[in-house]
Amino acid sequence: MRISCPFCGERDHSEFTYGGDASVTFPELDASLEEWNDAVYIRSNPKGVLREKWHHSGGCRIWLVLERDTLTHSISQVEPARLTISELVK
Ligand SMILES: [Zn+2]
Repeated sequence: MRISCPFCGERDHSEFTYGGDASVTFPELDASLEEWNDAVYIRSNPKGVLREKWHHSGGCRIWLVLERDTLTHSISQVEPARLTISELVK
């Protein structure tokens, strides 16, 4: 699988570290342990296009959000996890 980092260009996925489902929303810091357990460990693992966090650990070290089809591994979108970073490098 190849990932096109918006800052470094196309690279092999081995330069990246998977960071989990980007659609997960975490509870408030004072939420119950059960809410935190569910947010951290309970996943639905659906097939198809998902938004995922990936860290370019072997490159620019920026966190990215990818839209990736888990069946075909095709990537339809890559953007910085913090969109303000794109504005900083313009
Ligand atoms: Zn990069």
